[in-house]
Amino acid sequence: MSSIRTVCGDPSDTFERYAVGLARQDRLPTEKRADDKRWRRQTLLLELGRLGVQGWPLHRTLTTTGRLPDGCRPCLEGRGSNLCMTTRCNRDCFFCFNPKPRADGMSVHGRPAKTPAEAVEILAGLDIASLGLSGGEPLLDLDLLFGLVRAVRSRFGPAMRIDLYTNGDLLTRALAEDLKREGVNGLRVNLAARDYDAQPVRVALEAGLPAEVEIPAVPEDEARAREMMEQLDAMGAPHLILHELFATGQNLDALESRRLEAKGEEPSAALAWSAVSESEETAYRLLAHALRRKMRLSVYYCSCGTQQWIAESALARAGRIHD
Ligand code: SF4
Repeated sequence: MSSIRTVCGDPSDTFERYAVGLARQDRLPTEKRADDKRWRRQTLLLELGRLGVQGWPLHRTLTTTGRLPDGCRPCLEGRGSNLCMTTRCNRDCFFCFNPKPRADGMSVHGRPAKTPAEAVEILAGLDIASLGLSGGEPLLDLDLLFGLVRAVRSRFGPAMRIDLYTNGDLLTRALAEDLKREGVNGLRVNLAARDYDAQPVRVALEAGLPAEVEIPAVPEDEARAREMMEQLDAMGAPHLILHELFATGQNLDALESRRLEAKGEEPSAALAWSAVSESEETAYRLLAHALRRKMRLSVYYCSCGTQQWIAESALARAGRIHD
């Protein structure tokens, strides 16, 4: 019997293991000179405004072109969900928020499913328009992955957007073509997991499979992220999604061992994770770089403020549905 219950039923084992990590009370030490850093963030935000950034500055949700990634629009409206296929992965990134030890077992919107058919049944009870298939690394189990894609397509037709989250290590041209043929709309490739090497994006684009890059804005990696942006822009990649680096119980020790600190602001009541110091400044400078270079690559910043906004919208939406 599960020890945590939700209004939607028993949670998946993966969800419970996330929850145990999220429930850790300890935090990173708060950044020093927090007022100076807040002022620096405001200054950078004003500069971004002068450069023509668009979006929702109050929520720290920004885009260099006004074009949002297709999967982000339903997510911002609270109509996106996630299916975590496994927490197993061939990498061990310091920023990873997946629970350890890594384990198999699907988690669909926080609920367990043993088969693609069960997963689709859970999804059918949600009012969603986009689905992120994630891990761990989904390409480690192609039978399950293709089974899920086929089951989702057969149940929802083309209306459901499917984004596949991957580190790209195992992607080949033939696999990218198969994914496209079976109905995956696009890849979200975490190039921070592979030292900012953009080769999987090139492979996907050559196969005609749209590929976006999604990375945490890691302060110490800013120069490498900037180089990666130049490469992505040159190869015609459409979107780079920058996340604010955040601390959870799962990655806290790894972040602490790198002497990272927490941003000096009250953690949001709507979120069970908190922003890491200097990540937002890093993201702002990368946005400014794209604007100054007039890149075709559209850079989108999804901050902890954005996540808070999404969480609050989803709660409000659930309230409206249950009224
Ligand atoms: S590639 Fe992704 S799932 Fe794998 S360890 Fe890195 S962040 Fe975690």
